[in-house]
Amino acid sequence: MGTELTDVVVIGAGIAGIGLAVRLRRAGVTDFVVLERADDIGGTWRDNTYPGVACDIPSHLYALSFLPHPGWTRVYAPGAEIHEYLRAAARSEGVLGHVRLRSPAQQMTWDAPARRWHVDTPTGRISARVLVVAAGRLTEPHMPDVPGLEDFEGSIVHSARWDPDVPIDGARVGVVGTGASAIQIVPAIAHRVDRLVVFQRSAPYVVPRDDQPYTAHERARFAQVDGAIDELRARTAAELEQGHAARRRVPEAQHELRARALTHLRAQVQDLRLRRALTPDHEVGCKRVLLSDDYYPALGLAHVDLRPSPLARVRARSAVAQDGTEHTLDVLVLATGFRTSEPTYAPRVRGRGGRVLADHWSGGMTAYASSAVHGFPNMFLVDGPNAALGHSSGVALIEAQIDYVLGAIAHLTGPGAPVLEVTARAEETYTRRIDAMAAGTVWLTGCRSWYVDERSGRLTLLWPGDTDSFRAANGTFSPAPYQAA
Ligand code: NAP
Repeated sequence: MGTELTDVVVIGAGIAGIGLAVRLRRAGVTDFVVLERADDIGGTWRDNTYPGVACDIPSHLYALSFLPHPGWTRVYAPGAEIHEYLRAAARSEGVLGHVRLRSPAQQMTWDAPARRWHVDTPTGRISARVLVVAAGRLTEPHMPDVPGLEDFEGSIVHSARWDPDVPIDGARVGVVGTGASAIQIVPAIAHRVDRLVVFQRSAPYVVPRDDQPYTAHERARFAQVDGAIDELRARTAAELEQGHAARRRVPEAQHELRARALTHLRAQVQDLRLRRALTPDHEVGCKRVLLSDDYYPALGLAHVDLRPSPLARVRARSAVAQDGTEHTLDVLVLATGFRTSEPTYAPRVRGRGGRVLADHWSGGMTAYASSAVHGFPNMFLVDGPNAALGHSSGVALIEAQIDYVLGAIAHLTGPGAPVLEVTARAEETYTRRIDAMAAGTVWLTGCRSWYVDERSGRLTLLWPGDTDSFRAANGTFSPAPYQAA
């Protein structure tokens, strides 16, 4: 197997990798390869095909701003529609020719004398000047650590590895978890099953969703009226941005958000015992605030049992909650989230002097501008540390990082182009700034969540500020914090 030379290698063909590829081509950069481990592009929207899967950020705001899509069928697009949006964009922008499917990056190694990254895949080595890791963060299913899971004789399925052949219809089904995935699955399957048990460890805050289909007239307007999509995006972004105050623990904002959720609960759940069980006991906003109009009604159905108790053990034909109740089940749906703090690519990235990224991150992920890591020259991350949002569309942050990476690539182009390695000092200063911004936010005070690295207690997944502050801090490349070699 020979070595293929290219200028830029991008790891991951989800919304970040595809978005970057589109922007690279539009900037006239065509010497790049996108490696994708799966057999299709689309990332999260390829992986998550569970019943009811949809985006809880309004479609027009979730879409990439440079790929507006007048044809969204609903305010909150179903997952398959977003997947098709990404595939259509990749096709029409000429990106597919750059994508290698079924090509996991097994090792990524910096070769200092050659000033190149070598990326080994099962079918050969690709050597590039620049490595961009856009491998996502909600990619590795988290399996609950409960005894007996392997003894279960029925079907087990994780929300992000849905199998359409799982026999849901007429079955006795247990759903573990009450996060964003579970609250979409529960109402979507409730009417199909014989019996449904939901194992709830923490009651989530749920606010009205108010989903609507777009009429043909509205879709035509988005297609034909200049600025119509931009105006809707700006309005939606401004509305969602107001939610940041609650995360900063502004008392009135927290009170208002909590009241909105509890009013929704009271309006939808009349049974006082069920209502009590569904009343959250953590500070509002420290976990994702969920949107649903059909989750509570589904829990009120006679054959649906909300167990306010975690799954504690699994037996051959049943699941046992911590409250001691045992439930005979045919299917166990694990809507138990993802392993987020320790990305699986990190042990496979070796930088200057053989330094392993996972070792650099043994106390938690860090990166200057959420994008560059000391010891890893010419490597950039999209969707890396502190680059997710808890209150609005994370795609806005992906776009800012794409701008940053494009700036870096432009700087690295041409004869005599330098090698760029961010200084240790720049990375440390940025990390201290993140810690200072995170201190006092609800993500650190309110509860345990996937946003916080349990090893250090640091907020490593989320950007603690508002959307604009991420772009202001990290959307424009400057060579100043880098040592050029
Ligand atoms: P998640 O938010 O991490 O939720 C996992 C759930 O599993 C939590 O309710 C957790 O309880 C529970 N859990 C874990 N072990 C358990 C046990 N032994 N017994 C009972 N419950 C257990 O995962 P997710 O719902 O897949 O969502 C992850 C992220 O994906 C979201 O935050 C969001 O960013 C994204 N997402 C987005 C959408 C969308 O519409 N845009 C949809 C789905 C997912 P605790 O809360 O107590 O930990």
